Amino acid sequence: MSETEILSKFKITKTTNSRLKEFDQTNIQFGKIFADHMFEMNYRNGEWTDMEIKPYGPLSLAPSTSAIHYGQSIFEGLKAYRNLDDEVFIFRPEANSTRLNASAERMCMPSIPKELFLSALKQLVMIDKEWIPNVPGTSLYIRPFLFATDEFIGVKPSDNYKFMVFTCPVGTYYSEPVRVKIETMYSRACEGGVGRVKAAGNYAASLYPAKKAKEEGYHQLIWTDAKEHKYIEESGTMNMMFVVDNVLYTPTTSGTILPGITRDSVLKIAQSWGMQTNESSIHVEELVRALKGGRVQEAFGTGTAATIARIKTIGHEGTDYNLPAFTEKDFSIRILNYLEDLKRGREKDTWNWVTKIS
Ligand SMILES: *Cc1c(COP(=O)(O)O)cnc(C)c1O
Repeated sequence: MSETEILSKFKITKTTNSRLKEFDQTNIQFGKIFADHMFEMNYRNGEWTDMEIKPYGPLSLAPSTSAIHYGQSIFEGLKAYRNLDDEVFIFRPEANSTRLNASAERMCMPSIPKELFLSALKQLVMIDKEWIPNVPGTSLYIRPFLFATDEFIGVKPSDNYKFMVFTCPVGTYYSEPVRVKIETMYSRACEGGVGRVKAAGNYAASLYPAKKAKEEGYHQLIWTDAKEHKYIEESGTMNMMFVVDNVLYTPTTSGTILPGITRDSVLKIAQSWGMQTNESSIHVEELVRALKGGRVQEAFGTGTAATIARIKTIGHEGTDYNLPAFTEKDFSIRILNYLEDLKRGREKDTWNWVTKIS
């Protein structure tokens, strides 16, 4: 189906009471402000129907809604950017569509045709264009999500689903370099589990260990493998990267690690810049040895929310290892600046990653 045909099926109801006048671009708290509209559609009798854009507001759901009980719920996250010429861009939305459908398959949920997913996103972002902040470091976070809506108690895949998208203007995620702790007791994901998909329950399971780490003075955890706690996995909602002896290291994403789109972008750009990259298992002991030897030049997390989050301290079994203070020449700073320019159309998009919407 063409985009025009898809759009002709959307019912659009605009708000008569925009909250835009209350929105202060210069003081944005991450994830707390929601733009005026949302997209909603239902899966019934084996097909997607009732596509609708309407004012952002509460849902009415039965107490027996199965997602609430058994967690058949997945999500995505991506961002839209507006530049000073008022042009609007979305970064790699096709990759989010592919990943959402991979998550859906693992969780026994229906897939969403790519064109429908993209049309919903574009249309919603255009309607709330004025909500895209344009001061440096800000953007419009887009949250697509899909959940089971059968009114049924009993563990089985639902027959009915709801897919929704809302957006929030956001600023920087971490206001300073972060302190992380290598977690060697609790686990996020195991072989054969759902760690490689964006399933809501993964995050619920991570809260308790993350809370413990916060009590110890860290912002986040670095997860290790569930079996032996010997290998580095990822951190919060970010993939991990290290620069050691001028080589960029990151764990392979086989099975237990979420394949981040930012991770993929950073690896590809690094390679195009002639940097040596290494995707393999990263042994905790080896990392600690490199930290002790002062060979770790940079450590950072990659993800849509933070883009690049510099790490200043890594804790391991009671010892804190501090990383060198950063300079403008660092790979992580250069890549952050490059990505920010690329996403705002200021850098030539040789990758075909940036979708301009109008
Ligand atoms: C979303 C997410 C990431 C980062 O993925 P991006 O596509 O780069 O935003 C990394 N790890 C986890 C667990 C995530 O949920």
